[in-house]
Amino acid sequence: MRKKVVAGNWKMNCTVSEAVSLTSDLINKVSSTEDVDIIICPPFIDIPGVSFLTKDTGIKVGAQNMYCEEKGAYTGEVSYLMLKPLCSYVILGHSERRQIFGETDELVNKKVIKAIENSLTPIVCIGETLEQNEAGETENVLAKQIKESLKNINKDDDIIVAYEPIWAIGTGKAATSDQAEDTIKFIRSVISKKFGAAFAKKTRLLYGGSVKPSNALELMSKENIDGVLVGGASLKADDFNSIILAASEASN
Ligand code: PEP
Repeated sequence: MRKKVVAGNWKMNCTVSEAVSLTSDLINKVSSTEDVDIIICPPFIDIPGVSFLTKDTGIKVGAQNMYCEEKGAYTGEVSYLMLKPLCSYVILGHSERRQIFGETDELVNKKVIKAIENSLTPIVCIGETLEQNEAGETENVLAKQIKESLKNINKDDDIIVAYEPIWAIGTGKAATSDQAEDTIKFIRSVISKKFGAAFAKKTRLLYGGSVKPSNALELMSKENIDGVLVGGASLKADDFNSIILAASEASN
């Protein structure tokens, strides 16, 4: 039985004071439940405050990115060494990192390895563009991203993979639960071929892309969808809480 995950990606939103107020709101409203891992991923500058406020609550903290070197002349970057005392998770290879900042599977893989070595659970994002989807290339694109982004990981490593079709991110046009289930089932089969059935069975696979309170339960009720990565709706405490309640309902 894989524990459900609800992870919020705040993206480049929330000043320090806005982050304090959203986190306080979440702490008041979010029903922490034993059967759901609740993760929030604020911008770097907000992480120390959010991490302090959420200590001893059911909410865990993740980063949205990190660099794959410990320290040194990497202007503007933040390393795993810096994140380690504050976070338990790190989103890697988000499509916005890949598309806007030119991150390759090779770089994502280096980061994944460093995250694992430093006890940060990577939430590795993969997904196809609308053009790739319409050209019937989805499975090839995802298989390549899995093969290259997850190179050299071990069978006992804890990773999370988020399937985020780029055409569904921030568009309000989510994949249907059947589409998401079929694709995530395919992702599990690729992981199984590459890393073995036991690893594929225990690895949590999320869906992301326009998840909201109205579609969360249907998505997470599917056999292979172990949770959701939520952008826009994670910035509203009530909506985020409704998605957590949906995850809890889907687990029972
Ligand atoms: C995301 O950025 O990972 C995401 C899924 O965004 P949204 O929920 O806003 O589509």
